[in-house]
Amino acid sequence: MSSLEQMYQQVIMDHAKSRHGAGLVQLDLPAVGESHQVNTTCGDEVTLRVGLDGDTVSSVRWEGQGCSISQASISALTELVEGHSIEESEEVYEAFRALMGNRGEDLGDDRDDMLGDAGAFVGVGKYPARIKCALLGWMALRDAIAHAQAAGVEGETHG
Ligand code: ZN
Repeated sequence: MSSLEQMYQQVIMDHAKSRHGAGLVQLDLPAVGESHQVNTTCGDEVTLRVGLDGDTVSSVRWEGQGCSISQASISALTELVEGHSIEESEEVYEAFRALMGNRGEDLGDDRDDMLGDAGAFVGVGKYPARIKCALLGWMALRDAIAHAQAAGVEGETHG
């Protein structure tokens, strides 16, 4: 294993151990949405809740179980998107998906910087069966944002 691979391994283990955003709590924000996602091939699960303040993803909280890759990936994405706009989170998601489809290679452009700790999952791209593990949290995030947006619109209409 190269020193770079070891460093990546360490980043993933750190996120799997101290999970950013772990623990579902009530979010006191104008628009809140939740999503439950399951990766049946590996047995990974997550319930993720987002709170939006306008176009900003103000808060991400989640509860999950499963393999280290799935749980660490949710932790890394929480760190990346919290406090950023929905549009930015969508850009990071697109970059991460591109990384997963890149067969274990860096993207080789400024998207690598955008990915921060999520870039450590580059090696997962070599194992198609594990890509679903790494993407689980992102599926939950995007679904939860969509629910939050719908809830926000409804709140405006009726409230
Ligand atoms: Zn998994």
